[in-house]
Amino acid sequence: MKIIDVKFAGLKGATPKGGWTEELKPDSVVHTLISVKTDSGIVGVGTVFTSADLVAASLEVLKPLLIGESAVEPERVSEKLHQNTFWLGRGGSITHTISGIDIALWDIFGKITGQPIGRFFGGRLREKVMPYASLLMDEPKIMNANLTELRGQGFKAFKIGWGTFGRIDTANDELLVKSARQAIGDDCFLAVDAGGSDAYWRGNLRWAINASKMLADYNVGWFEEALRPDDLADFVELRMQSPVPISGCEVLTRRQSFTPFITERAFDIIQPDVTKVGGIGEFRRIAAMADEYAIRVIPHGWNTAIGLAVDLQLSSAILTAEKVEYCTGSAYVDDLATEPWKLDKDGLLEIPTKPGIGFELDPDKVEKYSGVRGFLD
Ligand SMILES: [Mg+2]
Repeated sequence: MKIIDVKFAGLKGATPKGGWTEELKPDSVVHTLISVKTDSGIVGVGTVFTSADLVAASLEVLKPLLIGESAVEPERVSEKLHQNTFWLGRGGSITHTISGIDIALWDIFGKITGQPIGRFFGGRLREKVMPYASLLMDEPKIMNANLTELRGQGFKAFKIGWGTFGRIDTANDELLVKSARQAIGDDCFLAVDAGGSDAYWRGNLRWAINASKMLADYNVGWFEEALRPDDLADFVELRMQSPVPISGCEVLTRRQSFTPFITERAFDIIQPDVTKVGGIGEFRRIAAMADEYAIRVIPHGWNTAIGLAVDLQLSSAILTAEKVEYCTGSAYVDDLATEPWKLDKDGLLEIPTKPGIGFELDPDKVEKYSGVRGFLD
């Protein structure tokens, strides 16, 4: 079985805010879907956290390496793409785009074999997993109304991030966390994301250590991106001094970039994003390395419904991946599937047992949000 075509579709019209200093607009394209077609007619889907223009340009480089390749050897084919692009866009657009291709190749392999892909990665350690409702911080009144609404939808875990946290003063930081904790109550999980990958982030080590102590008073489950993404030495120090678990690494790509952060024990939890880190194969190698150092892995999932579906499969096979990120208020998560996501009474999502990534993409919705017709044809 051979790969005969690859398509892309940039999502626009309903792009949610990202919390970035240069804020996204509804028509900003930062998530691009991929479909890979085989000569047997089976189509796999993937998703990439980057713009359609960058994916289009990357595919021009990758297509000659991909078209005509075997459709039943995802690990080898993706590694071939990585190995043959050391000189072109490595770690950037090329690595991002390979992520989407790799997801689609695993989806194909699962569909051919009739298995959910989590089974290839170690089996089914869990059948359900807790999604945490991820939302941007806002002034307490608005944020609390959002949290109350999400709690009403059945979520039991939450993460508030970005907004003005770390950007005004420590009193404001505490006010945000205190009011969020009050809104969700003491029985729900709460994590806090400073958003240190924002442009010109100024939160330094001293601020981060003090903030971590404040967060402990509100029983915060982890403190995410408290420093700039590349500040290895300061993250090591922060982790030593913080009473709450320290997390990060959502913007890193390639397994090699994670090595020093893991071996230096800079984090309690690392959060690779499967839609840009290099794909599922890369994610798994990072997760295996982290496990050797007793570092937990919780996927970064501020992307699309396909990303969430892959994270569910990964969580079925990775012991420490006990939560997945659910980006709230995004049509690209809530509205691309043929069936809606359903939380059970305990706030858990079932991990699909359907073949591949276990997700049915609605091609009409792809057309609605990208203008691309016949994405799965
Ligand atoms: Mg984050």
